[in-house]
Amino acid sequence: MADFDLDLFVIGGGSGGVRAARIAANLGARVAIAEEYRMGGTCVIRGCVPKKLLVYASRFAHEFEDAAGFGWTVEGAKFDWPTLIANKDKEIARLEAAYRKNVSGAGAEIIDSRVVIEDAHTVRVLKTGVRLRAKYILVATGGHPSSLNIPGEELSITSNEAFHLEELPRRIVIQGGGYIAVEFACLFSALGSKVTLVHRGDEILRGFDDDIRAHVRGEMVARGIDVRLNDTIKKIEAHKTHRCAFLSDGAAIEADQVMLAVGRTPNTKNIGLEAAGVKLNASGAIAVDETSRSSVPSIYAIGDVTARLPLTPVAIREGHAVADSLFGNNPWHLDHTNVPSAVFSEPEIGTVGFSEAAAKAAGKPLDIYRTRFKPMKATLSGRDTAILMKLVVEQKTEKVLGVHIVGEGAAEMVQMAAIAVKMGATKRDFDNTVALHPTAAEELVTLRNKVKS
Ligand code: NDP
Repeated sequence: MADFDLDLFVIGGGSGGVRAARIAANLGARVAIAEEYRMGGTCVIRGCVPKKLLVYASRFAHEFEDAAGFGWTVEGAKFDWPTLIANKDKEIARLEAAYRKNVSGAGAEIIDSRVVIEDAHTVRVLKTGVRLRAKYILVATGGHPSSLNIPGEELSITSNEAFHLEELPRRIVIQGGGYIAVEFACLFSALGSKVTLVHRGDEILRGFDDDIRAHVRGEMVARGIDVRLNDTIKKIEAHKTHRCAFLSDGAAIEADQVMLAVGRTPNTKNIGLEAAGVKLNASGAIAVDETSRSSVPSIYAIGDVTARLPLTPVAIREGHAVADSLFGNNPWHLDHTNVPSAVFSEPEIGTVGFSEAAAKAAGKPLDIYRTRFKPMKATLSGRDTAILMKLVVEQKTEKVLGVHIVGEGAAEMVQMAAIAVKMGATKRDFDNTVALHPTAAEELVTLRNKVKS
């Protein structure tokens, strides 16, 4: 180790990189972590956390709507976007400071600069020109919004800018049918924007269970979102008072903002990966083995830059595993199966395990259980919404392969259901669990009738 200045150099101060740096330093390793922008990465600075705060803000709209049915008069309720953004920014600054404190507290050095890898062990700090040699390098540089390469794209925004708009757009056109497009469409709509969602496929949310996809789209349309399928934005023009999005079907939509949410691209450019001989896979992400090791034995990569499963808790576990394995004499790696996820749409989705289509494609004979009902909370208010729950069960073993929920609290419910699925619970185990009444979640343990075998 004497040849090295450091045991671990982490590139990228997002959730995964920070976890790896902190754990490695706690285990006694000499660690530096470089971040060119703000400590906290996509999730904390311009992703999950600020998004969830905006989602909370947006949900007051239907809370006020429901309140009337319960006897409340809510007079003069008004929404102020700049207040929300300012309060959100304060909270993000607090979290960023906490991240910095935790990393330094663990004994890792924070380097506020972009860095470049020069060879398998050397990193150059661009701000100072200093070269540091590390026994291991961990690349945790995340990703950035993909571009569409259309005329006028510079007039559009991505989720990065959506968090800093000076005013709430009165009208917004969003291209994409994935997590980000759907979440922003729902939250802007609830806050009062007129939203058009344009998606190139014949259904939103590819990869999710088909019943969930159709149900969420139905709820979005019922809330006034104009969902246009099999369509794409071909061109954006600036006009004096607005933008105009030209679609492939010939339509032209006027809007205050046009947002592109067409996936994210791993940050692999201009960080010296080629110089070090780090191989990328076909999708341009860093190719790694199950221990997160790249084609260069001293260089590891975790999180979105590897595009395995671009979710924050996954990156955190991958980073933790690398630190434990290299410095804690405790080698382990993350099992990427049965990872729960949520889309904070309105209503939200919680999902874990196989969709019906994926289980079928894997050749598993199935029993499908499904229920759709009006949430109790919406009965007095008369709000037009329904919860959907679905269990995908393997016929032979009775194992619950997938749990899919759309409705208020779906993400919270699925976090718990994921424990059962991960443990290999059977439908019988679900049935043997006594319902907790009155809840929505009780439906998960009282589903008796197969809708399909
Ligand atoms: P997604 O991969 O979820 O969705 C991308 C969308 O863009 C898809 O609908 C895709 O269509 C469409 N698309 C891709 N290329 C084009 C193109 N050239 N022209 C038109 N449409 C295109 O990416 P997001 O950007 O929404 O999110 C990135 C990742 O971040 C997610 O996959 C998720 O892992 C993570 N995330 C997680 C969240 C959460 O946990 N709640 C929230 C936000 C993000 P098609 O389906 O046809 O390919």
